[in-house]
Amino acid sequence: MKAGQVAATLSSQLEGEVLQPTDARFEDAAAIFNREFQHQPALIARCKTTRDVVNTVRAATGAGLPLTVRSGGHAHGGHSVGADALVADLRGLDSLELDEAAMTVTVGGGVNALALIEHLYDRGLATVTGFDPRVGVSGLTLGGGYGLLSRMHGMACDQLLSAEVVLADGSVVVASANEHPELLWALKGAGANFGVVTRLTLAVRPLPELYGGVISYHASRSDELLPRYAELVAGGLPDSTTVYVGIDTSPDEISSLSLIAFHLGDLEEGARVLAPLTSWGRPLAGAFDEFDLLALHQPGGDTFPEGFKHSWRSHFLPSFESSTVATLVGAIEEARAFPSWTVIEHMGGAIGALDGAATAFPHRRAAFGVVSALKWESDPPAEPLAWQERLWRELAPASLGSYVNYASDKHGPQAIRAAYGANLPRLIELKRRYDPFRVFCGNITIPAA
Ligand SMILES: Cc1cc2nc3c(=O)[nH]c(=O)nc-3n(C[C@H](O)[C@H](O)[C@H](O)COP(=O)(O)OP(=O)(O)OC[C@H]3O[C@@H](n4cnc5c(N)ncnc54)[C@H](O)[C@@H]3O)c2cc1C
Repeated sequence: MKAGQVAATLSSQLEGEVLQPTDARFEDAAAIFNREFQHQPALIARCKTTRDVVNTVRAATGAGLPLTVRSGGHAHGGHSVGADALVADLRGLDSLELDEAAMTVTVGGGVNALALIEHLYDRGLATVTGFDPRVGVSGLTLGGGYGLLSRMHGMACDQLLSAEVVLADGSVVVASANEHPELLWALKGAGANFGVVTRLTLAVRPLPELYGGVISYHASRSDELLPRYAELVAGGLPDSTTVYVGIDTSPDEISSLSLIAFHLGDLEEGARVLAPLTSWGRPLAGAFDEFDLLALHQPGGDTFPEGFKHSWRSHFLPSFESSTVATLVGAIEEARAFPSWTVIEHMGGAIGALDGAATAFPHRRAAFGVVSALKWESDPPAEPLAWQERLWRELAPASLGSYVNYASDKHGPQAIRAAYGANLPRLIELKRRYDPFRVFCGNITIPAA
């Protein structure tokens, strides 16, 4: 069936609407964060209800159109808006229902991090989200999801108690500890492969007091500061403390190494735990203080602006060895000739309290994530991309795998094993059971065998 015919039929069935490429709003609606993987879809179904999603799934399968599912649109690989696909745009599924007695919140499949944080903040509550307010709660949670609260409360997927899912045949099921528990397991880390999640029920936590901030040093001191960081973390920080390192290089400005540190809980305790980080020599800028969760998650900042093309590469590492430090120091030195952003994400704590087989997200032994991020506007920058690939390869021998939420198809079939690790055989079985005709392939797709 032609896309125009599908649009006409589907429009009459939706509470939302169907956009065609001729519609003036189409380009904006199709736009995703990573313009490197910006595709031109056939149609966009702006869904408002679960029934809209059911009709959209049936329209795609009935017409033989590829189907992709879009929430916040921040998938690194641009998976949510497929070429020539019918896109199920979930942004109209924006409900938020807090159950304070049960300490849960149920969110629609299109809610983004900022809406969720704001909703909970007013009630003195919080849950695990990432750092960027624009990212979709679904996409982040279904791929694992870590952020400020993770070392204390686990991954975002660990907060997922149940989910309403539209399967490939248009049936609607609830995945929970009692119903379809295997599906719930699979959604916690490989969730884009099984159906459209229209509602997610997440555990919420008391909003903690927060102490910390960012202190930046000259990147030329990396050879001295990174070993200190490794020593600090190896010494054992409490689960309430998270210390990321962000390395920003630029040929035009001073390249910096920043300690991005957070303590959840008592402010005096936070000041005490983070005090050692304030005496690493004269900083370029920054200080630690009490801060506010909502203020931290406001849109803005120039690290990840809209409208750019991006290349990200990631590794999960079990420890921060001297060889890792040496590799990073060398890479930072080379990268001072061009703009780059490398972040060392501090994991462990409650993330590692579960076994790797407890959820589809397998990388529970990771103590760190290393992510290198490049962005550009027009032609791909050859030298930085070669640098990024080299860094990724040099860190690979120590790697446990890569983060599905930072992967793209450009990374080849090895991205599948790197993302799902030892859980892959079980995921292959579940893919056969829940998506036998392989409708949900707009992601790092679980193979048929
Ligand atoms: C600037 C930036 C900052 C980030 N920071 C963090 C961070 O701090 N922590 C972290 O863990 N990650 C972070 N990420 C990664 C982020 O978690 C992933 O990019 C995530 O997949 C984005 O989700 P989304 O809903 O915005 O994207 P989308 O592109 O809409 O969706 C992502 C994938 O999930 C699928 N999907 C989305 N919703 C559903 C649904 N309801 N049902 C079924 N499938 C669905 C899509 O088809 C797609 O394959 C960041 C990404 C960016 C670009």
